[in-house]
Amino acid sequence: MPEPELAGRLLARERSAVSEALNLVDDRRPPQREAALAMLDQLAREGAGHGAVRIGLTGAPGAGKSTLLDALVSALRARHQSVGIIAVDPSSQRTGGALLGDRLRVRSVSGDEGVFLRSMAARDRLGGLADATFAGVVILSTVFDVVFVETVGIGQSESDVAELVDSLVFVAHPEAGDLLQFMKAGILELPDVFVVNKADLGAAAQRSASELLAGLRLGEAPGDGWQTRVVQTSALTGQGIDELLDALGAHRRHIEESGELARRRERARLAFVRDALERRYGSYGLEQIGGRAGLIERLEGPTHPSPFALVKELGREIELGLRG
Ligand code: GDP
Repeated sequence: MPEPELAGRLLARERSAVSEALNLVDDRRPPQREAALAMLDQLAREGAGHGAVRIGLTGAPGAGKSTLLDALVSALRARHQSVGIIAVDPSSQRTGGALLGDRLRVRSVSGDEGVFLRSMAARDRLGGLADATFAGVVILSTVFDVVFVETVGIGQSESDVAELVDSLVFVAHPEAGDLLQFMKAGILELPDVFVVNKADLGAAAQRSASELLAGLRLGEAPGDGWQTRVVQTSALTGQGIDELLDALGAHRRHIEESGELARRRERARLAFVRDALERRYGSYGLEQIGGRAGLIERLEGPTHPSPFALVKELGREIELGLRG
């Protein structure tokens, strides 16, 4: 079987194994699915990718996420950090050459071994993002220092991506009412860092940033004691990019010291197991094994299986249960 070899190549941080591994986890045929779970389980057992930084980047279309990502990649490369990106595209909203992947490939990605980008269509992501995306995050975390998951939208996609990453960045256009909509949606507590981009456009960015800070002060502070940061950037001029990286670094230190990082990683593993089983067996299947509480019990149980081994194990149990 090829998967132990593939896992070995990923562990050796061989870049050429990344696409192969991502293709394998995208393949829904049962033998490939088994092979993918075995490969991912091997990575998990080796403790692969624990040190990599996992960052979610979200916001409305046109806010400047891909331009900002490009600027962040350049800044991180200058700091000798390698970068892997998963761009979850709701394919209907992006057209032709405007695809994030295409633009980045021409710019910071092209010809640089230290940067990798994979676009994923959101087309058939029923329910959560976690099933395929988490596997991708684990693969990229094994090979690259910093992993970004970029998603579009206001609402569901924030909470989906928030489950998978260590730090969540929301990118707002200063004039488009993004922030107002965001505050109305009542998910102000999700992002760890807010970016008001296009600061070069003038006073609007300053105004939006002030409104946002006021809104954050009114809202409840998140449980772990982190003060959400607001950073103004211009992806075009480079203004605020270092400050954004500093804010992300501060958040990283905070979650490491407070134990929140471990909790977030646990949450991601749980989301993966839940989505992977739900996709295959539906909510009825999940109930057969005790629902969310049952999953937590098994993940934290004495045998401490990796989420990938657990999906295999519980899948077998559900199948037996359904037949009986
Ligand atoms: P996305 O849909 O969020 O990925 O947004 P894009 O990165 O595609 O950017 C949308 C448009 O905003 C493009 O025309 C960019 O050139 C422009 N843009 C992005 N960042 C900035 C910025 O900081 N300042 C200005 N003035 N324009 C920007």
